[in-house]
Amino acid sequence: LYAEYAAERELPAETVDGQRVTLFMNAGLLVDLPSLDTTGAEGIGLFRTEFQFMVSPALPRVDEQTKIYKAALEAAGDRPVVFRTLDIGGDKPAPFLPREEEENPAMGWRAIRIALDRPALLRYQLRALLYASPGKTLHVMFPMIAEVAELRRCKAILQKEIDRLAKHGREAPTAVKVGCMLEVPSLSWQLDILLKEIDFLSIGTNDLMQFFFACDRGNPKLANRYDLLAPPVLAFLHMVIKACDNADVPVTLCGEMGGRPIEAMALVALGLRRISISPTSVGPVKRMIRSVNLKQLRDFMLSNITSPEHSIRDSLLAFAQDHNI
Ligand code: PEP
Ligand code: MG
Repeated sequence: LYAEYAAERELPAETVDGQRVTLFMNAGLLVDLPSLDTTGAEGIGLFRTEFQFMVSPALPRVDEQTKIYKAALEAAGDRPVVFRTLDIGGDKPAPFLPREEEENPAMGWRAIRIALDRPALLRYQLRALLYASPGKTLHVMFPMIAEVAELRRCKAILQKEIDRLAKHGREAPTAVKVGCMLEVPSLSWQLDILLKEIDFLSIGTNDLMQFFFACDRGNPKLANRYDLLAPPVLAFLHMVIKACDNADVPVTLCGEMGGRPIEAMALVALGLRRISISPTSVGPVKRMIRSVNLKQLRDFMLSNITSPEHSIRDSLLAFAQDHNI
């Protein structure tokens, strides 16, 4: 799977005209960690902490959680690891959570909504993350944030745990960086305030796009209904990326979209410089980036983004073919 791309593993993800892009990988369990070295990913842009909770029959204790987070940080060495707090519920059941039937689980009691209703769950997890990071930079990211007020509640809980750490005389991380996922469209109308309150943003297109199009991500009947290379999607992402650039807040995209070379090509043309993808996508996406002339691609993209078509996928594929990408 990785052998085909081994020769490029140590080479930078850089376009022909010298624009550097950072490729991170997504992970969630200990078995994913060796992929950091086999792929040459520059860190873990999304560590889905819920996987440990989904495979464990009982709620993992603080020391058990700490062990996993430590292992991820050790495997990454100098590279960053972004830990996303629990995103259970919805399509990710956990054995210790009461299962209640919901009409719309994706829009239901999940992720940060559970965490804010059951703050002890979040507090123990943040405690474990702090215990795992003495002398290191800890990156914490909150999922499914719908409004700035919600993020503030999360930050207040995190601050309590940081204070508790000091009170107990335990060594703290050298820095704690706080970010959030953009998965709920409402948050994008508060970007100006939001970007003053976070150190980084991560666009979760898997969830975001089902809400953007009001189209269930798990319904096979709708799987091909809307295309992520549709002009409204690209215009929206362009707006978000520009807002982050203007505010000097690093923005990563961590949905599956970023792992497909043509989609990734479109995103880089829109100004995205950080992508977090599954380990198997790192090689193909890096190869695409290394064959692109960004200036040409950007001009092409910006002239297509206002198209009234259903999708600009065919135009982008034709561009890629014409330019040997
Ligand atoms: C997303 O929604 O894009 C995302 C990365 O989160 P998950 O796929 O874990 O819901
Ligand atoms: Mg999501």
